[in-house]
Amino acid sequence: MLLKTLREEVLDANLELVRRGLVLYTFGNVSGIDRGQGLVAIKPSGVPYEELTAAQIVVSDLKGTIVDGNLRPSSDLATHLELYKHFSDIGGVAHTHSEFATAWAQAETPIPCYGTTHADYFHGPVPVTERLSGSEIAGDYELETGVAICRTFSETDPNATPAVLVAGHAPFCWGPSAAEAAHNAVILEYVARVAYHTLTINSESRPLTRELHDKHFLRKHGRNAYYGQVKTQ
Ligand SMILES: [Zn+2]
Repeated sequence: MLLKTLREEVLDANLELVRRGLVLYTFGNVSGIDRGQGLVAIKPSGVPYEELTAAQIVVSDLKGTIVDGNLRPSSDLATHLELYKHFSDIGGVAHTHSEFATAWAQAETPIPCYGTTHADYFHGPVPVTERLSGSEIAGDYELETGVAICRTFSETDPNATPAVLVAGHAPFCWGPSAAEAAHNAVILEYVARVAYHTLTINSESRPLTRELHDKHFLRKHGRNAYYGQVKTQ
């Protein structure tokens, strides 16, 4: 089996979405990339999570040609590939229709940073894409979804804000690995839910100050990070 370890990681990241209550039925998909070989492992289309095995994970090249696997890949493969091509540091992509993040996507409203949990993971508001045009929808829809996401990040570092809300659709998240992409999807759903409650309690709630936002983000990310334990590997 080609890319056995990556397939197992991708399988586990997909199952993590189920464990954390982010998916209904077969919604959602996680992929991971082997940058050295230029190959992507992604969930097959329409297979129930409880039946999913590592051997069923589909391996594609960056053009979308299937190089290993008997099943059709997730229909969102072209979106994942577009993100891997443009966000050169990422190792995994996770897409869900999780309830609160999807509600913000449908409301076409960026999620403001109301608290430090958001600031720990996302440096700035979680942005929303523009709507796709009629011709983009009629054309290569999944590819155009990826193009719209990349356009949203033309002036934003995707490593500092590893999530987006696709207008009228749902979130895509990413990270250094498939596991971290799934983790970011779980955190995004939490942040989206708490932001909704924050606005429900006080519709005039204010985003964090830049100082507190930066403090929390930068103590976990970048050269001067000091949160957690020093990595020895
Ligand atoms: Zn979707």
